Amino acid sequence: MPRRVAIIHTGGTIGMRRSANGYTPEPGYLGSLLEGMPELHEVAHYDLVELDPLLDSASIRPRDWLEIARIIARRKDRYDGFVVLHGTDTMAYTASALAFMLRGLRLPVVLTGSQIPLAELRTDARENLLTALIIAAAEEPVQEVSLFFGGRLLRGCRSVKVSATGFDAFDSPNFPQLAHAGIDITVDRLVVDSAVQPEKPVPLPQRLDASVGALRLFPGLSAELMRNALREPLQGLVLEAYGAGNAPVDDPELLRAIADATARGVVIVDCTQCLRGTVDLTAYATGSALLRVGVISGADMTVEAALAKLVYLLSTMRLTSHARDLMEQSLCGELTP
Ligand code: ASP
Repeated sequence: MPRRVAIIHTGGTIGMRRSANGYTPEPGYLGSLLEGMPELHEVAHYDLVELDPLLDSASIRPRDWLEIARIIARRKDRYDGFVVLHGTDTMAYTASALAFMLRGLRLPVVLTGSQIPLAELRTDARENLLTALIIAAAEEPVQEVSLFFGGRLLRGCRSVKVSATGFDAFDSPNFPQLAHAGIDITVDRLVVDSAVQPEKPVPLPQRLDASVGALRLFPGLSAELMRNALREPLQGLVLEAYGAGNAPVDDPELLRAIADATARGVVIVDCTQCLRGTVDLTAYATGSALLRVGVISGADMTVEAALAKLVYLLSTMRLTSHARDLMEQSLCGELTP
């Protein structure tokens, strides 16, 4: 029996067409290009599902993450795996959000895209699509949300976009790759099996509508800007702090703005601006001051994963305290406990 895979096309460069205003997604266009790739049928029996409307991923919002999750969940009994074609700009956010929502699905969900459209002569799209399809259709599948790009399969909730122009556009700086596609596709089973999954799929949220933001610290950031960023109706904030999670402590007003927000129930998660390494709020006085005003540690989570996790938890949990606790635990391998 051939393996069955649903290819879900959300938009993004991979399926775009050249227009007078630059590359743009066009309904039906990718399907016509896939007809010119009969080799895909040798890999799997696939169906193409298009998001309506197709989106440049810069325009994707949390409600679109939920729509993609629903498309997958509705088809879980009919397919052996899923490929999600997505723009590269926010693919790491979508991969993270899907990883939280699709826990327990136990099917491969492989996000991919490309830097150059499939329609172009010189493109990375063919290789990314073909290999993502092979991974989604594998007899011994990687049963989690992953991201394939530039020859590497990464854990979705650990991935970040690191290059605006290179074919190796994604990395997973705090976690080993799941697989490498060279002459063979070599899966590191020890790494894959390290994420604990629930036995059954977790229910999808009704809505993904929590009010969440991200703020990157910079030298000279005023208390006023911080207070404005934390104003109601904000429910959660990813604070992109320095190094081990540090922030300036010489401005009492800045710390008061944070303390007032956490006292109101805003969940503030500290992530580092550094690409590698982890937050340790006990390492410096400039970190422990944040702990004292109610900030929690994002450990080695990417900003993308922390933001998607905040949206997911604050949209689904009645109790903010529950969401706070879960932010510091690994739900699908997104952080090192
Ligand atoms: N702007 C495009 C997108 O994210 C870029 C890409 O796909 O590479 O949809």
